[in-house]
Amino acid sequence: MEKIPGRRPPKGQNTQTEAGLLYLVATPIGNLEDLSFHALEVLKGVDGIACEDTRHSRPLFDHYGIDRPLIALHEHNEDRISKGLVDRLLAGDSLALISDAGTPLINDPGFPLVRAARAKGIVIRPIPGPCALIAALSASGLASHRFAFEGFPPRKSAARLTLFESLKEDPRTLIFYESSHRVLETLVDVAKIFEADRRVVIARELTKRFETILETTAGDAEALVLEASNMQRGEFVLLIEGSAPRRHEDTLSKEQERILNILLQALSVKTAAAMTAEITGARRETLYREALRIRGETGA
Ligand code: SAM
Repeated sequence: MEKIPGRRPPKGQNTQTEAGLLYLVATPIGNLEDLSFHALEVLKGVDGIACEDTRHSRPLFDHYGIDRPLIALHEHNEDRISKGLVDRLLAGDSLALISDAGTPLINDPGFPLVRAARAKGIVIRPIPGPCALIAALSASGLASHRFAFEGFPPRKSAARLTLFESLKEDPRTLIFYESSHRVLETLVDVAKIFEADRRVVIARELTKRFETILETTAGDAEALVLEASNMQRGEFVLLIEGSAPRRHEDTLSKEQERILNILLQALSVKTAAAMTAEITGARRETLYREALRIRGETGA
């Protein structure tokens, strides 16, 4: 295994490139310096590197002097090629899988290879590192203890709206990848489904020269992207704040119930609910449901 000059591997940690192992190596999402020491040692030490696009990975290889045999593995050939790679691993070769950027398999090729390798009992070793969704989430200021990564939203607006509708009540932070061509139309659809004040974070060109991380709302996001011409260029992660818990809004305080009861003695269900909402700030729908229940019980 090739060693990086001046670097002593930490004691008790696995830094050997071992025979017959499949390494899943995360590579930079923009800044070439974001490759880890461990990733570099593995990429210099394996018998072959499977990569999506050899031209795309060339600057990384040149920057670090990585010179191992390359194997093209992309979405169009991965089903076919994975079996041959598994045979090589079984014969004792060590192989690394990288994608164009970030963590392999995260919206990138590699799933058939990992499945096939697992099925044969091959040891798979992840070498963690950059991942656009994690970088964006950690810097977003949105809740990060629970999140749902949804990959790229559908290209067609109708399918996108259906997806957003299904996620509207999800309490987790929602994370999407999006291309520069569609970022605007996707944000237009976000505004159609999510409440206007729902927080939205647009993370663009992470780790690169024009990195931009902006917080806005579902209602204002379109205007913000239209304002600056460069907001439709580059690579994007879109994050949407999770749905606020409704439970507290669905129960009425004693005072809200008292006012509703008084008004119901003189007014219709609809008007009493609307006026109580006006006076107390409680949700009109909750009051309306409660008013129907009271009237059903008491005939008030
Ligand atoms: N495997 C990658 C990862 O770990 O993040 C993601 C690959 S996916 C095919 C590419 C998409 O990731 C881009 O279209 C963009 O939405 C997002 N992405 C990748 N690099 C990015 C960056 N530097 N800044 C913002 N988004 C990025």
